[in-house]
Amino acid sequence: MSTYTAPLRDMQFVLNEIAGLEEICALPGNEEVSVELVESILDEASKFATGVLDPINRGGDNVGSKCEAGVVTTAPGFKDAYKLFCETGWNAMPFDPEFGGQGLPAAVTMAVNEMWKSSNMAFALCPMLTGGAIEAIAHHASDELKQKYLPKMVEGTWSGTMNLTEPNAGSDLAAIISKAKPAGDGTFLVSGTKIFITWGENDCAENIIHLVLARLPDAPPGLKGISLFLVPKFLVNDDGSLGKRNDLICPSIEHKLGIHGSPTAVMSFGENEGAVGYLIGEENKGVGYMFTMMNHARVNVGLEGVGIAERAYQHALWYARERVQGKIIGDTSNEKKTILHHPDVRRLLMECKARTEAMRTLAYYAAAQIDKAKAGVPGAQARIDLLTPVVKGWSTEQGVELSSTALQVFGGVGFVEETGAAQYYRDSRITTIYEGTTAIQANDLVGRKLAREKVPGAAMKTLLAEMSADAEAIAANPQLATIAANLKNGVNALSTASDWILANYDAAPAAVHAGSVPFLKLTGIVVGGWLMAMSAQVAAQRIAEGSSDSFYTAKLATANYFAAHQLPFAAAYAAEVMGGADSVFALDEPLF
Ligand SMILES: Cc1cc2nc3c(=O)[nH]c(=O)nc-3n(C[C@H](O)[C@H](O)[C@H](O)COP(=O)(O)OP(=O)(O)OC[C@H]3O[C@@H](n4cnc5c(N)ncnc54)[C@H](O)[C@@H]3O)c2cc1C
Repeated sequence: MSTYTAPLRDMQFVLNEIAGLEEICALPGNEEVSVELVESILDEASKFATGVLDPINRGGDNVGSKCEAGVVTTAPGFKDAYKLFCETGWNAMPFDPEFGGQGLPAAVTMAVNEMWKSSNMAFALCPMLTGGAIEAIAHHASDELKQKYLPKMVEGTWSGTMNLTEPNAGSDLAAIISKAKPAGDGTFLVSGTKIFITWGENDCAENIIHLVLARLPDAPPGLKGISLFLVPKFLVNDDGSLGKRNDLICPSIEHKLGIHGSPTAVMSFGENEGAVGYLIGEENKGVGYMFTMMNHARVNVGLEGVGIAERAYQHALWYARERVQGKIIGDTSNEKKTILHHPDVRRLLMECKARTEAMRTLAYYAAAQIDKAKAGVPGAQARIDLLTPVVKGWSTEQGVELSSTALQVFGGVGFVEETGAAQYYRDSRITTIYEGTTAIQANDLVGRKLAREKVPGAAMKTLLAEMSADAEAIAANPQLATIAANLKNGVNALSTASDWILANYDAAPAAVHAGSVPFLKLTGIVVGGWLMAMSAQVAAQRIAEGSSDSFYTAKLATANYFAAHQLPFAAAYAAEVMGGADSVFALDEPLF
């Protein structure tokens, strides 16, 4: 078995030389953060990921969580690891110091979170959901609720969940039927069944703070009639101590393809007198508030794509260095060599390495935009709004593809559970589904973020202009000529497809949405290709300055690989977007 080693050099490169960590440290509120401090945080996090989370990942898969009579027992080692995780302050990292957080920038949290996702994605879901709930409470709840709940949630002693999904309300939240009625004392009684609730019940946290979407009596139909409630597992007394058990239970957890270590709960609220809930913000505005949580979670689920691809790659590389098989094409020696020397195994590994680096660069770049937007830097909010569905949709689709590519390196034993390669493939498969499927991300991208933007297409056009100017600038260096040419073609393809969507959205929305997922992939490849090109430019400059750090040579190679093997797909995706709708609708329904 391989052991997870955090790719610290690449993480630091992306943070420092692409995402602009120094600039982020200089933003108001980040005065106490420095490049040196971040380096030591990443070092410590890597030790925790390698030493604590990675070793319990297999057990999480093999044994998983269990539920008996409403009590969930997490997989071996998870409870202790969670306790240590909280005690060592990892849970509190990104949150407001007012509530006990460390207030670290999103870009730094992104790198640290990648390590949790690589080493144990099922475990990492607990702090991820808690983090989303904290964001929603911090932005929208009353001061009283914030003071009562946030310190313990920031600490991690209490975990958080997000209760949207119901048997008939998945992608379509307008179909939610869970109810809430005023109890007469300012609180509400919540009832209904939620399904698929991540870490909805667990034995790691002392209390579980559920954020639940439900309808008040006489609420308008659809999305405009849904409110958000804070519903704790144990009621909390005024002095902060735990009171009586609330009227909610977890009747069962799901048996799943992957992430067995993460308990996915059915949650039943208010089977008796009604679960006591507290309204967050105003009535009927719950979906908007929940989006605060979902945007946080969407970027984080995108990061799962990066983390799982990195871990699967490391595992495949370990095997490729061990396994001896077959004669190497073109090798005239009679030496037995490992499969790493087969041209196609090299290709598989380059696919994993280059594409994972591109995804990482996009994720950290997006996080830097979150930090800049928070500080009011012009244009940053528009950029992160545009890129959130791309980080989520593109990176998770790639995470699935690359964990499959990594499994291929193992040959037959990859399909056999003992090697562990299959777990990464199975775990990755959920990432394109939860937090809004890839189709939902693509709808968001072509709809709200492009055609229905306040000034339609404005954010995309600003990005296209920036990428185009960078492609021109890079072309001046003959060493980067191929990268620049392929990037230019990619940017042109994205520009043409964007214009087509803007021109056709009103008259033919179904035709546009038939190509929305290919458009999302096109955007991911071009933006990823742009960031890899910028990485190549930095690497070339460092080498020209005399650096002998082989990291830069490797970065040039992976950037070249991405330009040669991924950017050419941009033209094909653009063609699919603009010319594929008729064939999508070519079959009458009975002919399926
Ligand atoms: C392991 C796991 C953990 C989860 N964790 C949580 C959680 O913590 N909290 C929570 O509330 N939910 C959670 N979910 C639920 C998850 O978010 C939903 O499963 C997901 O949003 C899809 O909804 P659905 O399953 O009802 O599928 P459906 O909405 O029925 O979708 C089925 C198919 O139709 C497509 N489709 C649907 N609508 C559209 C559309 N408008 N345009 C194009 N295509 C469309 C989808 O892309 C999909 O391919 C979890 C699910 C799982 C499996």
